[in-house]
Amino acid sequence: MNFYKCLVCGHAAPLYDVVDFNKSCEENRGHFLPLSGHAVYYARCSGCKYTFAPEFSSWTDQDFLEKIYNADYIKVDPDYLDKRQQENANLLNNFFGIYRMHLRHLDYGGGNGTLARLLQGAQWDSVSYDPFPQNPAQIEDFGRFNLITAFEVFEHVPEPHRMMDNIVKLLDEPDCMIFFSTAVSDGLIKDNGRLDWWYAAPRNGHIGIHTTQSLKTLGQMFGLKYSSMGRSFHVYYRNFPPWAEQLTKV
Ligand SMILES: [Zn+2]
Repeated sequence: MNFYKCLVCGHAAPLYDVVDFNKSCEENRGHFLPLSGHAVYYARCSGCKYTFAPEFSSWTDQDFLEKIYNADYIKVDPDYLDKRQQENANLLNNFFGIYRMHLRHLDYGGGNGTLARLLQGAQWDSVSYDPFPQNPAQIEDFGRFNLITAFEVFEHVPEPHRMMDNIVKLLDEPDCMIFFSTAVSDGLIKDNGRLDWWYAAPRNGHIGIHTTQSLKTLGQMFGLKYSSMGRSFHVYYRNFPPWAEQLTKV
């Protein structure tokens, strides 16, 4: 099959390119894994330009744990355990810290919960929840939140709509915000090009690469407005919350 349906907007998504499974983000720092021999095809939407690898739609949690999020994952994402969590905590404190008394924060896809712990240490009402692998805790039991963060989550999910469903139902009305990071491919994955951008890396679990347009479209489908602060940081919201005013100065 060389045509798929875009997982974000539903438009036709022809195959775009094929890369080796071991293509990793560390190639950006000059480190290359040996080729695996496992070919991973990516399709690219003709509408919103979301670029995704259809193969992963049929993977189970167990497949992801064995082949991607295994003991070697740290080698292709050395910053994920600690350094990035500290940076993200600092970032949230800078943007929202003075309003933390007004915030009930959830870090969605928060892995081992380091970010939420760091924020708790700074007097935030913060919890972490990771839906992967299958989490016995029911997220609905946590209540609702006015600030939900999702750092480096969007590019990892095989079902963007399901992820959004999960997050949006936890939002508290009406002044609420989803603050998230994922790098958009605008201008870096081109028509008539190849998938050579370092961020498109199956070994890192980067299986769905967004554009500004695909993020905007995804938000609209869930009744959310979208704004961006550069290539990596983005927000969805209903009414722009007064406690997020700091973002408008970026
Ligand atoms: Zn699309």
